[in-house]
Amino acid sequence: MTSLIELKDISKTYYIGGKIPVYALKNASLSIEAGEFVAIMGSSGSGKSTLLAILGLLDRVESGKYHLLGKDISNFSDSEGARLRNHFFGFVFQSFNLLARLDIVANTMLPFVYANGNGEEGRKRALDVLKRVGLGDRLKHKTNEISGGQQQRVALARALATSPLVILADEPTGNLDTKSAQEIISFFKEINQQGNTVIMVTHEPNLAKEASRIITLSDGGIVSDQKIREVPKRSLPPLTEPKKKRHNLFAFSRLANYFHEAYISIFTNKLRSFLSILGVVIGVAAVIAMLAIGTGAQKQIEKTFASLGSNVLMVRSSSRAHGISLGADSATRFNFTDLEALKKIEGVKAVVPYVNGRAQSVYQNKNWNTTVYGTSPDYQNVRDSVPNSGRFFSESDMNTKAKVAVLGTAVVKELFGGEDPLGKWVKINRINFKVIGVLPEKGMSGFRNADDQIIIPLTTGMYRLLGEDYIGSFDIQAQSADDLTQIQDAVAPLILKLHRLPASQLENIEVRNMADIQKAAGDMINTFSLLLGAIAVVSLLVGGIGIMNIMLVMVMERTHEIGLRKALGAENSDILTQFLMESVLICLFGGVIGIFLGWLIAALMATFAGWNAYVSMGSIILAFTFSVVVGVVFGIWPAKQASRLQPIEALRYE
Ligand code: ADP
Ligand code: MG
Repeated sequence: MTSLIELKDISKTYYIGGKIPVYALKNASLSIEAGEFVAIMGSSGSGKSTLLAILGLLDRVESGKYHLLGKDISNFSDSEGARLRNHFFGFVFQSFNLLARLDIVANTMLPFVYANGNGEEGRKRALDVLKRVGLGDRLKHKTNEISGGQQQRVALARALATSPLVILADEPTGNLDTKSAQEIISFFKEINQQGNTVIMVTHEPNLAKEASRIITLSDGGIVSDQKIREVPKRSLPPLTEPKKKRHNLFAFSRLANYFHEAYISIFTNKLRSFLSILGVVIGVAAVIAMLAIGTGAQKQIEKTFASLGSNVLMVRSSSRAHGISLGADSATRFNFTDLEALKKIEGVKAVVPYVNGRAQSVYQNKNWNTTVYGTSPDYQNVRDSVPNSGRFFSESDMNTKAKVAVLGTAVVKELFGGEDPLGKWVKINRINFKVIGVLPEKGMSGFRNADDQIIIPLTTGMYRLLGEDYIGSFDIQAQSADDLTQIQDAVAPLILKLHRLPASQLENIEVRNMADIQKAAGDMINTFSLLLGAIAVVSLLVGGIGIMNIMLVMVMERTHEIGLRKALGAENSDILTQFLMESVLICLFGGVIGIFLGWLIAALMATFAGWNAYVSMGSIILAFTFSVVVGVVFGIWPAKQASRLQPIEALRYE
């Protein structure tokens, strides 16, 4: 008949400082039958814990053979080990090893997280065993709200929950008073009588005598093996490997457990978690703000240029800007000859002349300082500004230098409030003008309010109001976009010729295409966005390093817990997933806060600049993806470190 466990010539050597050998086990051979209650005794350092760890597959043998139910499992892989531990062994430790964050039921259910099956089954079973160890009335308690004896009973319940073949206990009463110790031993006896195999390390001879067999170790060797009582022979089926776990990430109970764990570990350390996500918050906020402001600015530019009319070239003399005095020399100042000549260029649809200046406008007791433009009736067509009420001025108004004005809506609001301005008289620089029309509303144009202006006939502006003899600038509208370049090239040479100026003056006549200006502005916005994007990337990177740092600390702090989880059957991938999920969750929190912050920044900046911020769905999805990617990229290394820990080493870590 095959034994439950058979060890043959097992050795285990530790090397202190990597050099000096310590022979923790030397050629130990041992076989244990199903149903036995074995006490392992021996002085401190004799190898008891080492033997128990090898029995429970928490540690690997270095030489010798381990047969479990007749099958050689001496060279188990990490995940085989995890499955066998989960399925066949239940562990009870001297220091209880409960997770303080979880309540009693959750602690008891822990092995089920790593077993096949659903969470409901595990919960039912956990409640059963907790009742059985006498804790039925303490289910809602946290582990720090019960006594040491009760804590060890929870640990016992956890070991029993999955109905393992063998219970392994390393000095389970070492931290307990005599009475609690007696109770625990009674439980061991009881479950042994119900058929469980129990292997227990103990110091106390009076506890050991409750066992059916006492094995004594000394210096890594078995020095005595004494049967106290016969146990009924039980036959067990040969080992069938526990089924490979379905590695379905969406196995609900496991996922829920990881999620819950992550949530708890983030919220038990609020300040630390917050500080570690700050980088991600800033990065995501930058991404959101960048996209919102960039899109807003782009839309604003489009709107502005749409209001300026299409297929339009702007002509002005730039000599003043270049500091070349032309005040006395009228050669490059535009006049009516130029206007007529420009109209004759092929492909030109209309030419609109301008003079402009600041003016004080007065109606009754109201005062308003605004810009006055003198122009021609073509203005209303080229600039898409046919008045909504009243009319624009006509050619005959131009010819008679009529004192008529068309007001922008902002001016109307300032001077007239709710009153109808049509037909009223306003004083512009102390000259009386009759209001004949109101311009359609245009809104903000860059940093200028396009509605804050008064339009009057060009001639009136030049000779009566501003006292200028020259035209300031022109808008030239082409018949089609195809004509623009050709017209653009023709304008400056034509004006030079009319003014008899040398070719060297060519650069003083500026002819600009609106589309070019729009493109230049768009390029500027793009550069600006790119800059913000770079800030976003840098802060995400810094944030990621922050996350990695905090994850490494977390792994270190929880090494012991990782050991426990592995003892209960967690595979490397389980640990990896858990820590990765924690990292991703932290980053997602950062992402959500970042999205709000970014939106706020965009809204504030937009208010100051006077345009709208557009926080699009796309940018939110992008920010979310970013945070997840940061979580995965920077969490994977610490998570990998955690998952690679050997169970026995992790458990030994304090
Ligand atoms: P016991 O549980 O009987 O007190 P152990 O099995 O823990 O003894 O240890 C047996 C021997 O192996 C001791 O001499 C101990 O110092 C040594 N030992 C145990 N674990 C390690 C380790 N990780 N590194 C070095 N030596 C170890
Ligand atoms: Mg020990």
